[in-house]
Amino acid sequence: MPTMGALHQGHLDLVKKCVAQADCTVVSIFVNPTQFNNQEDFEKYPSSVKEDLDLLESAGVDYVFLPEVDTMYPSSPVLKLNFGHLETILEGAFRPGHFNGVGVIVSKLFHIIRPDLAFFGQKDLQQVAIIQTLVRDLSFPIEIIVVPTRREEDGLAMSSRNRRLSDLERKTALIIFDSLSVAAKELKEGKEWLVVQEQIIRQFQEQESVKLEYFELVERETFEIKKHFDPHQKMAICVAAYVGEIRLIDNLIINS
Ligand code: AMP
Repeated sequence: MPTMGALHQGHLDLVKKCVAQADCTVVSIFVNPTQFNNQEDFEKYPSSVKEDLDLLESAGVDYVFLPEVDTMYPSSPVLKLNFGHLETILEGAFRPGHFNGVGVIVSKLFHIIRPDLAFFGQKDLQQVAIIQTLVRDLSFPIEIIVVPTRREEDGLAMSSRNRRLSDLERKTALIIFDSLSVAAKELKEGKEWLVVQEQIIRQFQEQESVKLEYFELVERETFEIKKHFDPHQKMAICVAAYVGEIRLIDNLIINS
C-alpha cells in the first residue's frame, strides 16, 4: 500500500481492508519528489512519521517501508511513462509530469515489495485509472483494489494536505464537497450537465479565497470528458481547486 505519510483515517481504511484480506501487509511511506510539479507543495508536504508508525502498528501492519530519496532514485530515471489521453485532462493537464512520477514510483514499489494485492483510494480516481493502465500494459501480476473515499463529518474528503488549511480555509474548503453533492443531485433530477457546471463555476468565482481548476463530468473508467449526463453510463464528477495556497481534489461517483 503506497502512501506519502501524514496518515489519516482514509489511509487507515485501505490498511484495514488489506489486513483483512492479505496474509502480510506492507505500507510504504515515501514523499515522492518526482510526482510534485510544484516545489513548494513538495517542501511543505506534511510529515508525521512517528505518529504514522504508531497508527500502522496498532492497525496490524506487518512491515513499513520508509525509503530515502537516494534509495529510490540512485540516479534520476531516464524513462518517461506516458498515459496517453489520461495525461491530457484534469490532473494530467494541470499537473504536467505528475502521472509519470506516480507511474515510475509505483512500478518501483511493486518490484521491491512484490504484492499480490495493492490498495488505492477512490479519492484519487484518475490515479486509479493510471495504476490500472500501468498494471495492464506492463503485466504486473497484481490485483488492484479500490477503496471508497473517507470523509470528515461535514463531507470534506480526508487528505494529508487538509492539515495545512487554516481554520477559515477549512470552512471554505467545504465548497468542494458541497458543489459535488449539489451537482449530483441536480443531474439525477434531470438538469442538463452544462447548466449545472456553469452554475457551479459561478459559485466558485464568488468565493475570493478559492480558485477552481476544473469541475468536469467524466466516464469513470476511460475518463472521457462528457457534455451530457447518461444514467446508464458509469460516470463521476471530478473537481480540483485551490483553497488559499492548498490544492485539493475530490470526486463523486454518480451511478454505479
Ligand atoms: P497519499 O498518501 O495521499 O499518496 O495516499 C495514499 C493512498 O491513500 C492513495 O491510494 C490515496 O488514494 C488513498 N487515500 C488518500 N486519501 C483518502 C481518503 N480520504 N479516502 C480513501 N483513500 C484515500
